[in-house]
Amino acid sequence: MTHALEIKDLRKTYEGGFEALKGIDLTVERGDFFALLGPNGAGKSTTLGIISDLVRKSSGTVRVCGIDQNKEPEAVKRMLGVVPQEFNFNTFERVHDILVQQAGYYGMEKTLALKNIEKYLRQLELWDKRFDQVRMLSGGMKRRLMIVRGLIHEPELLILDEPTAGVDIEIRRSMWRFLERINKAGVTIILTTHYLEEAESLCRNIAIINHGEIITNTTVKDLLRQMDRSTFVADIQGDVTPLLAETAFDMQLRDDGSLAFQVRRGDSLNQVFELFNRHRVEVISIRPRTNRLEELFVDLVQEDQQKHADKAAAVASAAAGGAA
Ligand code: ADP
Ligand code: MG
Repeated sequence: MTHALEIKDLRKTYEGGFEALKGIDLTVERGDFFALLGPNGAGKSTTLGIISDLVRKSSGTVRVCGIDQNKEPEAVKRMLGVVPQEFNFNTFERVHDILVQQAGYYGMEKTLALKNIEKYLRQLELWDKRFDQVRMLSGGMKRRLMIVRGLIHEPELLILDEPTAGVDIEIRRSMWRFLERINKAGVTIILTTHYLEEAESLCRNIAIINHGEIITNTTVKDLLRQMDRSTFVADIQGDVTPLLAETAFDMQLRDDGSLAFQVRRGDSLNQVFELFNRHRVEVISIRPRTNRLEELFVDLVQEDQQKHADKAAAVASAAAGGAA
């Protein structure tokens, strides 16, 4: 069976010489729910832009459902639903008209087009807005309209570039439920996101991109298993100065007066409590910090950035050595 997406040695150098993608490989199975994560400027939008033919690649291959973009760009476009990061509507047009035009662009038969338009507008709670001009919609509604537009022609693969950016939590959750539903119905989904919690709760597989390179590509489950430590936050009472002086468990006082500390695999929380007891610091409550994937993500990016810094330092010292 062919993959939904297969990218090989994809490179992009923008005019001006900036190398945004340095030869990335990526494979997404059919039916997958896949997250592409990375800090700002990592190359996520460039990657999705190339897949959707909005950005021209410098070299490499992109295959969608086995079809080579270099050979059959139009066939690839028909397989794809694209939800870009930036709104790109004529905002004076009406919701329903925009969708009819999109269906026309794909040459859809009219009855099916109207049926899909109604189905997805209803599912994304936009049916009541169908006669409104796009400029009258809220940000979250515009975002959902982009999703409807991306789905009208029933693509095999839906790609969404930060679909929930700037969308409030309630709408975000209803978008998640919707995306899960269409994924279950067989649509392969690739999304980029800054909300790492999103990838953890929705996706099966994940790739992390940084500086135009894929630094991790694995299952969300494996990624979490790889983690060798967890961070906890404790609300405390007492003088923590002597406690902090021990520099154990990476203890750090936070702005709100709580104390964060890290426990590695194999360490026991008892050891932490012994330390607290010894310094007569009372623990009022304790909880795990934030989101595990988020912590891991920060670690991986820091590791990768350290590697880059080391490489740059090595190059600089070699150059200095050569000059001497
Ligand atoms: P992300 O979506 O991960 O935030 P992008 O793919 O948008 O990252 O950008 C990757 C890098 O390429 C960034 O450093 C960005 O400044 C640069 N870049 C993006 N678009 C252009 C462009 N049109 N011209 C020059 N550089 C660009
Ligand atoms: Mg982007």
